Amino acid sequence: MSLKARAQEKVERAGISNYSFDQDVLVMCGVRYTIEACECGEPDCDGVRLNKNMALMGRALQ
Ligand SMILES: [Zn+2]
Repeated sequence: MSLKARAQEKVERAGISNYSFDQDVLVMCGVRYTIEACECGEPDCDGVRLNKNMALMGRALQ
């Protein structure tokens, strides 16, 4: 499964339906999240991590 598909699953499991993808960036409520593989090894880890894209947010504020 691709990272993007895993991220989509994670978001839907959280009950969020208001999201979209901009290429490989997840956009939720106007906030962009980069999708990264997570290798923490926690038993309940779904293998994907969403990071707020600070660079883009900063640019939007200028
Ligand atoms: Zn993890």
